[in-house]
Amino acid sequence: MHDPAVLRSMHVARFHAEPAIFVAPGRVNLIGEHTDYAEGFVMPVAINFATLAGISPRSDGKIVIYSENFGEERAFDAEATPVASKHWTDYPMGVVSILTGEGHKFPGFSLTLWGDVPLGSGLSSSAALEVVTALAVLSLIGASYPGPVLARLCQRVENEFVGANCGIMDQFISANGKENHALLLDCRDLSFRLAPIPANVALVIANTMVKHSIAGGDYPTRRRESEAACAVIASHRPNVPFLRDATLEDLEKWGHEMAPKSLMRARHVISENLRTVAASEALLRGDMKELGRLMAEAHHSYSVDFEGSCVEADAMVALAQDLPGLIGARLTGGGFGGCTINLVEQSQAAAFAEALGARYAAQTGIVPEIHICHASDGAHQLR
Ligand code: ADP
Ligand code: MG
Repeated sequence: MHDPAVLRSMHVARFHAEPAIFVAPGRVNLIGEHTDYAEGFVMPVAINFATLAGISPRSDGKIVIYSENFGEERAFDAEATPVASKHWTDYPMGVVSILTGEGHKFPGFSLTLWGDVPLGSGLSSSAALEVVTALAVLSLIGASYPGPVLARLCQRVENEFVGANCGIMDQFISANGKENHALLLDCRDLSFRLAPIPANVALVIANTMVKHSIAGGDYPTRRRESEAACAVIASHRPNVPFLRDATLEDLEKWGHEMAPKSLMRARHVISENLRTVAASEALLRGDMKELGRLMAEAHHSYSVDFEGSCVEADAMVALAQDLPGLIGARLTGGGFGGCTINLVEQSQAAAFAEALGARYAAQTGIVPEIHICHASDGAHQLR
């Protein structure tokens, strides 16, 4: 995480005011991919890459936002209704918009943003930005929300203002993560259970450095296909509004009524839900071997049935398999590139990262970024 003292200096130099400082982490998902919008289970971890926000009130009725990552400042009228403009300021202004819709009224403010969550790599810099902005602007008016409620509001920012049809996972873990723990989240009712990650296990996050976009929009297409499968099941069993409620037996009975791709997507989502709950139980009893096995199965399902992987991510997972210390590896996040998550014995993590990077570069010609991370706390105020 960047140094908050440096953020403070930036804010003071630019805005001549002492900021309150907040932090919200990015995340990595251990298992449970494309299950959140099916009201299923996910098991993410908040990581030690985070976005910092410094905020101070202004008396000129303006909202002025500076991102150190973009080296860019934009100003808005605090009285005006925010409108989306396909710019990074949509995230913080979306937070203002959604919270205003909840009945809050914000004065003008200066906001400095600075994060080390890699942008657009599937580690959820967007959720970190939403959550940290929400904490910051709420602090201005002395308001706060419980973490799960805050997460829902930030998800709405992304869905309703930014226009990304994401589930609740990213915002939830950024707001509610706990150091040295993974969090099993039931995306239906937002109940959750923490499972400790053993101290001798490292999270090695390997960025493939690629992000493919398939024709027609990858994420929404997959979502539509799996929802179409659910509609077929629901035509027989009306009490299956989401794939969370469906079983593999349902697919055996009615899979022939589905488009082949829909059947494959649904098989991934239904089996992934079962694996995710099983993975949390394995983690709770310290059975790392079983957790690794479930991660391998999950990657196979994501790649073959969901067709959510790509050549580079499959390579990154395959190249990790026989490296010393590996517990489990899979592609994490929305898919088609981004990062893999490798659970690795801590004592082997540095050598693992180096060897994986070398192998990947030799095979693909791309030099990857590989980070050795640990599970961190969710969003909070720093000073
Ligand atoms: P991911 O969430 O996987 O990192 P997204 O495309 O969902 O990828 O979100 C990335 C976008 O979020 C960036 O392109 C930018 O618009 C915005 N963003 C994230 N962090 C910052 C930051 N520190 N400053 C400004 N904008 C940011
Ligand atoms: Mg995002």
